[in-house]
Amino acid sequence: MRAVVTGGAGFIGSHLCERLLDTGFDEVICLDNFLTGSPENVAHLTGRKGFKLIQGDIVHGFSLTAKVDAVLHFASPASPADYLRHPIPTLRVGSEGTRHSLELAVTHGARFVLASTSEAYGDPLVHPQTEDYWGNVNPVGPRGCYDEAKRFAEATTMAYHRTLGADTGIVRIFNTFGPRMRAGDGRVVPNLITQALAGEPMTVTGDGSQTRSLCYVDDLVDGVLRMLHTDVPGPVNLGNPHELSMLELAEWIRELTGSSSPITHLPLPQDDPKRRRPDISLAQSKLDWEPRTPVAEGLRWTIAWFAERLRQG
Ligand code: NAD
Ligand code: UDP
Repeated sequence: MRAVVTGGAGFIGSHLCERLLDTGFDEVICLDNFLTGSPENVAHLTGRKGFKLIQGDIVHGFSLTAKVDAVLHFASPASPADYLRHPIPTLRVGSEGTRHSLELAVTHGARFVLASTSEAYGDPLVHPQTEDYWGNVNPVGPRGCYDEAKRFAEATTMAYHRTLGADTGIVRIFNTFGPRMRAGDGRVVPNLITQALAGEPMTVTGDGSQTRSLCYVDDLVDGVLRMLHTDVPGPVNLGNPHELSMLELAEWIRELTGSSSPITHLPLPQDDPKRRRPDISLAQSKLDWEPRTPVAEGLRWTIAWFAERLRQG
């Protein structure tokens, strides 16, 4: 069994590569252009039998003569700070990158899994979000480059599924956190943890009443693998329904780190979604999946990982 993971040197991709090797794949090919990821994320896998790291850009295509059984398209900036810095590469990896990943899968008759996102729902008017909700996205706002790229990626995937009979699955991933997030990637969990550990002010945007639902990465990867091993086309939400406000999150992280950092407020970014929580009934019924890790437990492990990195300098 051979898998190709685009974006495999990123946060989620690196965990996915590892788990594929642990669960019976003989070969895992990690394709990454290191735009927002790093070889360091897969350094622990480079000596391992069957793991191959290839520096390359899926926007320019990728082919293999050896048989491929699974293509998991995870390449894309995912942090708002990253995609606001790289809007055109974000649009291109969602459009051309998705098409090339699908072509690879179709050529080999491989199962294809697209990493889509809760951002497909934009600033949702339906709560919690179910897969049949079409979303509330501002296409010309700053987040449009990411949201619309993923919506286009979903539409492309369904067109390949319907017209070519491609074996595809779409997962809509809700906010996921864990070890190997980049300290400076701008997302709320790495920001608040690194600030709390450094004793610096913890930045909360707006009044902090906006909510997110945070899923620990091991649980998320488990859901992705379940999607891989079915023929469910989706889309299927994957996330932890435990919803909390960003102010609550900051207070939790402060408590768990034992920090006395003050909380400081920054302006709320444009089009920042006010509420987000997945309805995971479909994942429960179709994939027999639900997250197992309590958020506080995941935060403890993530804090320990960041603290260790800080100690190592
Ligand atoms: P990440 O930025 O850590 O990883 C993305 C990886 O893709 C990086 O290694 C980057 O270098 C690589 N990449 C970007 N463009 C590429 C290209 N053109 N060719 C090859 N590689 C490229 O982000 P992440 O949090 O690990 O997210 C992974 C995937 O999951 C993304 O597709 C993202 O949209 C999706 N997702 C993540 C979350 C989350 O909360 N982490 C939520 C929803 C969806
Ligand atoms: N946020 C925050 N402090 C930060 C970074 C982000 O309060 O240092 C807020 C952000 O405005 C949003 C939420 O936390 O309301 C989640 O942001 P993130 O960038 O992690 O992910 P998003 O769900 O917006 O893609």
